[in-house]
Amino acid sequence: AEAKVANCKLMLFAEQMVESLKQRQRLFDRFLRALRDDKFSLHFQPQVALKDGAIVGAEALCRWYDEDLGWVSPAEFIPLAEERGLMPALGDWVLQAAVKQLKDWQAAGSPLPGPLSINISNKQLESSSFCQRVLELTQGIAPDALIFELTESAVMRSPETNIKQVNTLKDKGFRWAIDDFGTGYSSLSYLTRLRADVLKIDRSFVARVPGSQHDESLIKTIIAMANSMQMKLVAEGIEHPEQAQYLHRTGCEFGQGYYFSHPLPAEAFFEKIRNQ
Ligand code: C2E
Ligand code: MG
Ligand code: MG
Ligand code: MG
Repeated sequence: AEAKVANCKLMLFAEQMVESLKQRQRLFDRFLRALRDDKFSLHFQPQVALKDGAIVGAEALCRWYDEDLGWVSPAEFIPLAEERGLMPALGDWVLQAAVKQLKDWQAAGSPLPGPLSINISNKQLESSSFCQRVLELTQGIAPDALIFELTESAVMRSPETNIKQVNTLKDKGFRWAIDDFGTGYSSLSYLTRLRADVLKIDRSFVARVPGSQHDESLIKTIIAMANSMQMKLVAEGIEHPEQAQYLHRTGCEFGQGYYFSHPLPAEAFFEKIRNQ
């Protein structure tokens, strides 16, 4: 009887696995079609000066609306694109769309008051043509109009290649930010060799200040480190005024989060910068 139960469980497990593989394949089919039919868009989240809330830049975040699946989170489709070797293609689309948007806002008379940050996947950086692609796709805008964000854990996955690519583009005037800082166990020596310009404090630490002694001292350490390395600081995931006040008081200059604004479609974001 026991063997029978075990057998039954195994069958159930196999069925569930087949089902989830099918679902993943279906998601991938839809993703391919979306890429072909240009179904992605960018939303923009303001980055603000914590002293007065003024918009000083934005982060571009990729969005996908599927007629059957609804909104699919980038936390789902970015790893899928990475896994199936399509991140360079999606990354190219994001870069090209971001550059076009910057030019459109400029042409409409209200340029973005500061740089636009773009997330770069490890898989893009690892591609040998990445630097060339960036130079091609960003023609007509100044390199300091962009900041490339790289997560701390992505840097650490292939540090030697990544540091080389990052520095090649840095020499051309593009700036870099380390995203989700504090979660990636990076070594200080790689961090200094990367010469990033901006450090983004992960929102998991921001969530518990003021209040958590542990996270308060962690944030103070990150701030001291950024200052000594002459990096700008952006705190992510600010949802409450107390967090913004605490971070500003403690020496963090910039922030982003739902308290200031959710990521917005291009038109709504444009209204905001036009009215500022
Ligand atoms: P990220 O780069 O760390 O982006 C910040 C994420 O936090 C965004 O989620 C944003 O909507 C969310 N967020 C902003 N403010 C708050 C807040 O106050 N509270 C909370 N709880 N969340 C907040 P999103 O748009 O779902 O993106 C998730 C991740 O997907 C991004 O994390 C980034 O790693 C990746 N991603 C998004 N767009 C792209 C892209 O174009 N290329 C690449 N390579 N990755 C992307
Ligand atoms: Mg980011
Ligand atoms: Mg982040
Ligand atoms: Mg993240």
